[in-house]
Amino acid sequence: MTDSVAGLPSASAFHMSTDEFRRMGHDLIDFIADYRDSVEEYPVLSQVQPRDVLDQLPVTPPEHGDGLATLIDDLNNVIVPGLSQWQSPNFHAYYSANASLPSVLGELVTAGFGVNGMLWATSPAATELEMRVLDWLVELCALPQTFASDGPGGGVILDSASSSLLTAAVAARHRMVGHERAPDLVAYTSDQAHSSVVKGLRVAGFADDQLRVIQHDDDYAMSADALALAMQTDVDAGRVPFFVVATVGTTSSAAFDPVSEVAALCEQHGAWLHVDAAYAGSAAVVPELRFVNRGLDRADSYCFNPHKWLLTNVDCSLLYVADRAPLNNALSIVPDYLQNDRSADDDVIDYRDWQIPLGRRFRALKLWMVIRWYGAEGLRTHIRDHVAVGRRLSALVDADPRFERLTPTSLPVVCFAHIDGDARSRTILNAINASGRHHISHTVLDGRYTIRVAIGSVHTTVQHIEALWADIEALA
Ligand code: PLP
Repeated sequence: MTDSVAGLPSASAFHMSTDEFRRMGHDLIDFIADYRDSVEEYPVLSQVQPRDVLDQLPVTPPEHGDGLATLIDDLNNVIVPGLSQWQSPNFHAYYSANASLPSVLGELVTAGFGVNGMLWATSPAATELEMRVLDWLVELCALPQTFASDGPGGGVILDSASSSLLTAAVAARHRMVGHERAPDLVAYTSDQAHSSVVKGLRVAGFADDQLRVIQHDDDYAMSADALALAMQTDVDAGRVPFFVVATVGTTSSAAFDPVSEVAALCEQHGAWLHVDAAYAGSAAVVPELRFVNRGLDRADSYCFNPHKWLLTNVDCSLLYVADRAPLNNALSIVPDYLQNDRSADDDVIDYRDWQIPLGRRFRALKLWMVIRWYGAEGLRTHIRDHVAVGRRLSALVDADPRFERLTPTSLPVVCFAHIDGDARSRTILNAINASGRHHISHTVLDGRYTIRVAIGSVHTTVQHIEALWADIEALA
């Protein structure tokens, strides 16, 4: 071992050799496989108390590496009990996190390559695989052709729907006023939209009074009449509508805003239309569910998260734009140290001009692995199965007079309440989660406490939902 500094070992003495990596990698793949095989044995909602995990972790980091001899014990004894089991087929809270095993392997390869695809030149395959996979999704989901990479627009893979929203807002602002100050710009969304709209606009520098929150109609969809009135009122007062966010598949109840009507208003006022289909977008792989695409051909940007329902592990959010120019013009800043001949020739995509950060992970690999493993037919079957499971649960709810279903269930998000009122619904939900057998979450719809079962975990079947319903009935 060469001494790099007098008396001290060189860094090479510390690195993991590829033989050690191979051995430990096999052990860890076995660990993950065992974990997945036994995931139904753990409480779905972690039962640990605050600081239980923290108190088991050494307060100070080790001075000397410990060779990871006890790693798997620590994973089993400290970490797993502190997890909620998002990959359990009994997880129906929030929206699911779809970490199918092919995507896990894709993630591993991404880490193994360790590339930063910020420019085409920094790893051409990272950029071009991303372009190809995004074009596959345009075809698989029958999205507008303007979103394809050989058209005026294109797509990019980001970390989250929140980042997609922020990125779209910045592009919309730029299309309206370039880099000028613009205190009169106004954005619009519905009171059922995800909180990421408020957050994204704040991060983009807008004051809260530059966002109008539009009321919903009977189906929890944004009221187009109320939106029309709000936009016109702003125009009459000399303000400038620049950005409207419509949601396809709201977080609370999977409701659909009327995208075509919203698009017509955007066109009338020159505002940018962003469609947030973070959860529901995956449904479009199934032809009979393509109602989720209604009006999309008139959207300026569109986002959906394969990490919610398309078998790909967090993080994987797709942002498509119909015209890439406002996005790239808003975000392209080219310091000397990033210049290169390819970028200068303008014949390649540099994805750093499509996102807020410069550096980027090679996320396309896991989506590529998923699509190659499942094929279009596997993806369709996955979504269709869940829709059927959702219908089964809806029928069970409808058949029990003690419960009332509060929303239609065109996608498998079932919202219902006990007829005795909020306290009863809340008690049932808490008891279900405390049992550790299932995990469900709640929302509030028009002031009413609502039990919300979102079916989407990779391995959830009718049997899991019937077991859940049996437990709910026993508590009713
Ligand atoms: N939009 C909708 C409709 C959502 O349901 C969610 C999360 O559930 C988000 C946005 C935020 O997603 P992300 O965690 O990817 O930012």
